[in-house]
Amino acid sequence: MAIGIFGGTFDPVHIGHMRAAEEIRESFGIEKVFFVPAYIPPHKRGRRVSDVDHRMEMLRIAVRNNPFLRLSELEIRRGGISYSIDTLETFEKRYGELYFIMGLDAFLEIDTWHRYEELFSHADFVIMLRPIDRDISDSAILPETVRRLVRKIDDTTLLHTTGKKIYLKRVTQLDISSTQIREALSRNESIRYLVPERVERFISERGLYRA
Ligand code: ATP
Ligand code: MG
Repeated sequence: MAIGIFGGTFDPVHIGHMRAAEEIRESFGIEKVFFVPAYIPPHKRGRRVSDVDHRMEMLRIAVRNNPFLRLSELEIRRGGISYSIDTLETFEKRYGELYFIMGLDAFLEIDTWHRYEELFSHADFVIMLRPIDRDISDSAILPETVRRLVRKIDDTTLLHTTGKKIYLKRVTQLDISSTQIREALSRNESIRYLVPERVERFISERGLYRA
């Protein structure tokens, strides 16, 4: 079955993540999208990340009412620094077809990821574009190390030399980030309608992200 893998820190999960996952699931005919919170995110080692139990619980609450969205505890159980290559290898053994979902911001740094070249052997990529992002398939903004290994099939599809595809997918842009939410909370401002209602309640009950 075709599944989506959506990794991140999710500190906290917000409706930008949720809506993007929903749209991609629908347009690619994906049966389940797994949200995979990183235990130790390799790219955020400079800053403090919230307790993994809290990040996980917020995700669990967020996906509960949608049968197509799932929380995966894989990286949490594995422990250590969370490398996507290990995650894709594990999912590939369990499921056939993988869609590895990420925002363009993340993809533009892909060549800094651990064993990044191998990622393209295990999954098709779905890169979420925002309206302001130009058509990246014929622009120079793909990392050079990736650009030389792909060939354009059409305006939204690239073919990697591994045979896997890279889809460029426009999703409804909700200009929301976890950083914005943490900052609002630290100033005692409302985050209503930026996160699912029950996530908001969880944050407020636990007093998370307060100054
Ligand atoms: P932070 O501000 O802490 O970096 P974030 O909101 O960017 O948090 P992450 O956990 O870093 O969330 O992101 C996980 C994935 O979700 C990344 O691939 C990122 O590109 C994507 N993403 C983040 N915000 C949005 C959004 N508003 N719409 C669509 N995708 C998003
Ligand atoms: Mg981010």
